[in-house]
Amino acid sequence: MYFIFRCDCGRVLYSKEGVATRKCVCGKSLKVKERRIFKKVESAEEASQTVQKMQEEIYGASVFKKANEIPKKRF
Ligand SMILES: [Zn+2]
Repeated sequence: MYFIFRCDCGRVLYSKEGVATRKCVCGKSLKVKERRIFKKVESAEEASQTVQKMQEEIYGASVFKKANEIPKKRF
């Protein structure tokens, strides 16, 4: 079982059942038990797809397409 939840920064994350903390790419360590679980899925693949789908719903699919096309820049 994998849990889907969000960080305070807005990113959607997933973690395997039994994992106590998950570190977000923003640097924050999240206690999985304290997060609101949006969804529970069976496989890592499903979890990864769910995260991607949620990110697209939140930020819009075009943002992610652009991010893939344009090399990352430091601001
Ligand atoms: Zn974060």
